[in-house]
Amino acid sequence: MDIKQNICPKCGRPTEEGLCSNCRVEETEWMICQPRVQCTQCPTCGSLKTGSIWTDSHLERESLIGELAMSGVKLHEDVEDIKVTLSHHDPTPNRTSVKVTVEATLYGIQVEQSCNILIVWIGEQCDRCSRLSGNYYAGVIQVRADGRKPDDWEKAKAIEIAYTVEDSCQNSGDRLSFITKTEETRDGVDIVISSHTIGESIAKEIKNRLGGKYSRHPKLIGEKNGKQVYRITYPVRLPKFRRGDILEIGKEYFELRSNESGNMKLFDLQNGEIRYVNENEPARLVGNVLDSETAFVAYRENDTFGMLDPKTYVNIECIRRPWLEVTEGTEVRFIRDREKDAIILLG
Ligand SMILES: [Zn+2]
Ligand SMILES: [Zn+2]
Repeated sequence: MDIKQNICPKCGRPTEEGLCSNCRVEETEWMICQPRVQCTQCPTCGSLKTGSIWTDSHLERESLIGELAMSGVKLHEDVEDIKVTLSHHDPTPNRTSVKVTVEATLYGIQVEQSCNILIVWIGEQCDRCSRLSGNYYAGVIQVRADGRKPDDWEKAKAIEIAYTVEDSCQNSGDRLSFITKTEETRDGVDIVISSHTIGESIAKEIKNRLGGKYSRHPKLIGEKNGKQVYRITYPVRLPKFRRGDILEIGKEYFELRSNESGNMKLFDLQNGEIRYVNENEPARLVGNVLDSETAFVAYRENDTFGMLDPKTYVNIECIRRPWLEVTEGTEVRFIRDREKDAIILLG
């Protein structure tokens, strides 16, 4: 085997092969800096634009400056043990000058180099903020009810459901799906939305949670980039009966506890049991627990008790329900069935 002593062709010092480490480092342009880096940011919400795509940014200004500066620095692949130090100042309101210092090891030798990168800040309103400020809308969800008006609880619930859907859209990165505004109208509540995706999701979720049904009515409003643009109205019709309604079904009285997907959960006011009944079942509306009255219990004897009608002060004798605890001197809640001249105990 021929053992040859290698020497560096540049400086003549011993080397394993080719140039010695010192000469290799000298020959290598190991840190290349771009003098300027541009950043387009929405002044309203801080979103960042890359190419033509906007994305939400959760970076603090300091971290953003660091990331931007480093995006303008290219290090040779053989550089190891990298340590970066940054310092910056703003020469003008829309310029940040960053000094980047890199200490590292290259071919076993300690190296250090600095450069200056100028960040150019461009303020541009993002796609979402410009939609928001322009009151942009793609559709309206009209929450109404079948043969009545939605009550306050239902209106508040519909709005709450809408905002929960908006949260999940935003969290999944669908930044253009949002609620432009909500508005109480004479007949219910309108939820104005920015995209068809969120419109469909909200209408569906309200229907699932509050019962009833929804439909959609698209209306062509024009053309954009060769594509037809529609606005969609989603009428949501809440069921005929709402939570707290007292219903008479087949000669028995029930309190409606919930109505999901057309399935009514009923509390049997006779025996205290829970029953599920389809919302299309024939039922007569007697009233709602919100219209209930309270009466003073004058006496109790086993399973009967007497209460004073709060309007006439006449004693009414009632049979106690197994689910209802009645004690003399307390009060009970009831509702009147005017059609049958009956008293229905509620609790
Ligand atoms: Zn050398
Ligand atoms: Zn924005």
